Formats: sequence, C-alpha cells, structure tokens
Amino acid sequence: MKKGFLIDMDGVVYRSNRLVPGAADFIRTLLKQDIPFLFLTNNSQRTRRDVATKVNRLGIPVGEEHIYTCAMATARFLAQHQEKGTAFVIGEGGLLNALHANGYSIVDKSPDYVVVGEGRTLTFEMLEQAVQMVADGAKLIATNLDPNCPTDRGIRPGCGAIVSLIEAATGIKAFGIGKPNPVMMRFARKELGMSTSETIMIGDTMETDILGGVQMGYRTMLVLTGSTKREDLVNYAYQPDVVLESIADLCSDQRLTQEISTVRNREDDTPHDLQEWIKSHC
Ligand SMILES: [Mg+2]
Repeated sequence: MKKGFLIDMDGVVYRSNRLVPGAADFIRTLLKQDIPFLFLTNNSQRTRRDVATKVNRLGIPVGEEHIYTCAMATARFLAQHQEKGTAFVIGEGGLLNALHANGYSIVDKSPDYVVVGEGRTLTFEMLEQAVQMVADGAKLIATNLDPNCPTDRGIRPGCGAIVSLIEAATGIKAFGIGKPNPVMMRFARKELGMSTSETIMIGDTMETDILGGVQMGYRTMLVLTGSTKREDLVNYAYQPDVVLESIADLCSDQRLTQEISTVRNREDDTPHDLQEWIKSHC
C-alpha cells in the first residue's frame, strides 16, 4: 500500500511564523522514508521558490518541488482553457510568475481574463479597471475565495473579499480555483503522483482543506493547531476522517490509535490499514 500527503501550511506546520512543535520532525520522517508529500497553499503572493525559502528558514528542509500554490493551479487551469491568453492581474510575484510560466501575457487593456490574487498593492484605480474589463466581457477568476487570512494581529482581507467587490459591482460571479475547488485538489494529487485512495489531506480549515479533500474522496485529517476547534465540528455536514490535536500526533502511537478508532471503513481502505501504514512509517 502506498500513501502520500497533501499538507496545508498555515495553522498546520506553522502559525504566525512560529513552527508547530513536532511539525519539522514529521516532515523529516516523510523525507527520510521517501513518502511523497506536497505543501498546499491558498496564498498566491509568493512563488514556490519563495515559499520553500520561507519554510526552510523556519527549519523545515524542503525544496520548491514540495510546494504547490493556488497561483500555479490558476495559471495551469487558464492555459488548459485558453492557450497563450492574456490577463489583467490584481496580485503579486507568485501569480505573475505562474501566468508567464504557462504562456500568458500580462496586459492592461482588453484581457481574456481578470485574475485576482493576494497582494498589498491594491488601488481603487486597479479595481475600477478590473470592473470595466469584466463589464466588457473579460472572465473573472480568483486564485481562491478565502474571505480572510490569519496574521499576527488577527485577520486581514483575503482574495475572496477583494474579488467580492468586483462581483458586487458587475453582478458577475468569479470562478475561484484554490482549495476547496476540485481543480486545485486534483492538480495537486497529480503532482503528488498518487491515486485518490492513496492521498491524505491534512489541514486546519474545514471550508477549504477538509471540504476539498472530502469532495475528491481523499482521506482527510483535521489538526486543531489552526482555525478550527473540536466543538466547531458539529456545525458541518461533512467531517474529517481523523481529528488530531497536532500534526505531531501522527507520530504518536497512543494518540493516533485513539483517534483512528473512529475512522470509517471504505471498500478500498480500512482504518486498520491506515493505522498500520502510519505505524510502519513513523
Ligand atoms: Mg491553514
């Protein structure tokens, strides 16, 4: 039996630039055992190399091949739909770079797409241009629809909040590519090189990580080091397969046994198989 992990970053391996205790050890175990994994982020601001450098500085020794961003998924999706297209971009390096790498040109007149990502350079003039372009027929794309993002001080407006303004002004809904959209979840699995039943999604947010994994039929593991508390779970119609206090619990036999006893059976994958696999690799 093979397994591979898609791992959300903020709230799972770090929080506000501080490593989650035990997270680096878990990643080192994956590297040592040659277990495929990808960090999955809904932040389109940085390139995969920038993200790898940030993670390296926190003490997790991964290369850029271990990073998959919603900017990469967005650019790939657009290139599949329209080759060598044009885009007006509200966003930063990660998104611009991914679009260029996929054959797109960045323009400020008559684009095929208006693409909205994360960034700190937003002006009213850019929004006005974007609104006009969408009204004139450009397709509206968001790298993700997260309404807000965690910061040291609380939250800041996310890509979903920015794109809402253009949606309200034009009456046209954006298509959001990042988690939980199956477009990104599937691209990431293909990049990981695993089948659906071999893929495990680990995340801290029910609306993105866990919903994305559930929709695709991946095994899902919710960690409580980020945005979700155990008592929040009753509010959701879908549930993760496993709930862990922290990603570090994946390497704790006792805690894992306790949690995994509640995992539901599947035709292709029983809880016992999952536990035996994790035990033999951690
Ligand atoms: Mg997160």
